[in-house]
Amino acid sequence: MDLFEYQARDLFESHQVPVLAGAVATTPEEAFAAASTMGGKVVVKAQVKIGGRGKAGGVKLALDAEDAREKAAAILGMDIKGHTVHKVMIAQAAPIASEYYLAILLDRANRNFLVMASVAGGMEIEEVAHTSPEKLARVGIDPNVGISLEKAQEIARAGQFPDDVVDQVADVLLKLWAAFIAEDATLMEINPLVKTEDGRIIALDGKVTLDDNAGFRHPDHEALIDHAATNPLEALAKEKDLNYVKLDGEVGIIGNGAGLVMSTLDVVAYAGEKYGVKPANFLDIGGGASAEVMANGLSIILGDTDVKSVFVNVFGGITACDAVANGIVQALAILGSSATKPIVVRLDGNNVIEGRRILNEAAHPLIEQLDTMDGAAARAAELAAK
Ligand code: GDP
Ligand code: MN
Repeated sequence: MDLFEYQARDLFESHQVPVLAGAVATTPEEAFAAASTMGGKVVVKAQVKIGGRGKAGGVKLALDAEDAREKAAAILGMDIKGHTVHKVMIAQAAPIASEYYLAILLDRANRNFLVMASVAGGMEIEEVAHTSPEKLARVGIDPNVGISLEKAQEIARAGQFPDDVVDQVADVLLKLWAAFIAEDATLMEINPLVKTEDGRIIALDGKVTLDDNAGFRHPDHEALIDHAATNPLEALAKEKDLNYVKLDGEVGIIGNGAGLVMSTLDVVAYAGEKYGVKPANFLDIGGGASAEVMANGLSIILGDTDVKSVFVNVFGGITACDAVANGIVQALAILGSSATKPIVVRLDGNNVIEGRRILNEAAHPLIEQLDTMDGAAARAAELAAK
């Protein structure tokens, strides 16, 4: 889960990473109130989960509360790279002397963590890496060892931070590391990390990604979810513990095993080219798919108004085809008249003969059986185009 900047700020603050006062506002009046409380100059910042807000006009300095109200009115509702601004953060303004860059991320390729630090902050780090790679330190961190004070100072020097800020930057890095581990993050990026004119080091903009797989360890992360942006079908699927991702096509997909479902998406996309249709979703119902799981999956897919046909692609393994076939029949009985779209089923693998017999005997008017994955994909695409 990616956080909004204001959420990242709050999280940083709770781990003693130095930040300035900040408050979120959804209306110009709230912006006015927040700016009044803070007093003095503030920065009004669009809260969208995309970078480059500064360049897009989503970060504006306001001289006083009245000005903050006006700047908020201008920024709220703005479109930044396809993201509509529903909230702004009112942040205490900082007199900036220098802008730096500091980040910790999960380095999947090397199976450890990576710290990136650079004296050249403010701009996009890809650009720094490209134009002045000598100014970007990239240091691998062994998760079993972590970051010592000496290591943090070494990193700050490697990032070419001036001597007078090395100790402060190292201290921020240690706090950021503690936050990163405590919150089970996969990314914590500060850009810019600034030196103010009076010599303080402060995180002015934060980007945080939390590891959803560790969600069970963090009941407090639940409150950070942006429910307004969650697709309602995905939310429903999550409630039912289903592995579902909404896509923008017309052929609903159910399969068992992530690999099989991924390849099903490919064959449906390929077969659908002829008809101009695409897969409508990813749904892996896993190994031991019971009738209930099948019913839950079918009901979510049939509830998707974009779906015109459904392709159930199952390879029987530990859960044999006869059990899956019974599951489909029972699922349709549970769904009753709410099931209205054609369903193409392809069964193969363990006990396939019996599975196919069960479906044939049930002779459900919505179900059509095909023997091959390609044939079934083509038929489902054809039905979706009708
Ligand atoms: P981004 O463009 O989405 O990464 O948004 P940032 O929060 O990084 O802001 C972009 C730029 O706005 C920063 O690099 C700063 O130069 C400037 N900025 C942000 N906050 C302040 C502030 O409090 N005071 C001043 N003077 N400039 C700021
Ligand atoms: Mn930034």
